[in-house]
Amino acid sequence: MLPSRKNFFWSFRNFSIQRMQVNVKGANSSYFGNIREGIKSSWEGLKLSLKHIFEARRSRKPIGVADKEYFGQQTGIVTLKYPYEALPVPDNGRYRLHNEMEDCIVCDKCAEICPVDCIEIEPVKATEEIRKTSDGHSVRLYAAKFDIDMAKCCFCGLCTTVCPTECLTMTKTYDFSEFIMDNLNYHFSDLSPAEAELKKKAYEDFQAAKLAAKNAANAAKANAEAPAPKAEVPRKEVLATETSAETPANPPAENTPPKPVIKRPVMKPVIKKTDPNLPDTQA
Ligand code: SF4
Ligand code: SF4
Repeated sequence: MLPSRKNFFWSFRNFSIQRMQVNVKGANSSYFGNIREGIKSSWEGLKLSLKHIFEARRSRKPIGVADKEYFGQQTGIVTLKYPYEALPVPDNGRYRLHNEMEDCIVCDKCAEICPVDCIEIEPVKATEEIRKTSDGHSVRLYAAKFDIDMAKCCFCGLCTTVCPTECLTMTKTYDFSEFIMDNLNYHFSDLSPAEAELKKKAYEDFQAAKLAAKNAANAAKANAEAPAPKAEVPRKEVLATETSAETPANPPAENTPPKPVIKRPVMKPVIKKTDPNLPDTQA
């Protein structure tokens, strides 16, 4: 049979009172014993606090993570007055990205490998070599746009590993928080928009001139290979030429024997007279 709600409440209350009595008896059942226990536990806590206050007279030494003592420093102030004080960051810390544009050949490899597409590059072809990088690579492209959005970056470091000139690096600058998110989009391009337009126009003109020169060369080559067209002679000149051909320009010399003149016999029809009354046609 289930106990009623009232019986269940009183049973629970009696059980709790009994537990409290047991606890008090176990600790110190006397009034002064309780006071003594209170003072003792307070002194334990105070002792710990005093120990830390005493040790806080000095700070932890700012040593690098590679130092053997880095994790051995268990005493001293553990909090710092940032930004006036800061723990040293290892030189190979991977925080904010930086691109040394002088050494960038705008190859786009970093943008291609980035897993979150936070690098945007707009290359512009140059008409000739722009410069050499510090490691001897030839720079033939301008970067009209080279943006890295650090708000999207997941600090994987892949972009720095594929960079052929090692101009893109992760620095140990870790404090670059911003109130406005757009300020985390870093622009590394060394060209202004107007300069970029000029470079684009120069390359288009260069390409147009190159194409025109190529077309002209092809046309000249085709002309040289084709057979020479017959010169058109006016009709009057043709007639004159034919007439002059009939009358030789150089008459035969006097000592050349004259061509024999052949007289053609004159053939007359002979009509036989059958009727004696008819006149004679042969006369
Ligand atoms: S560190 Fe990773 S996420 Fe950040 S820009 Fe480079 S490739 Fe992209
Ligand atoms: S990989 Fe390096 S050289 Fe190529 S575009 Fe990126 S930063 Fe420039």
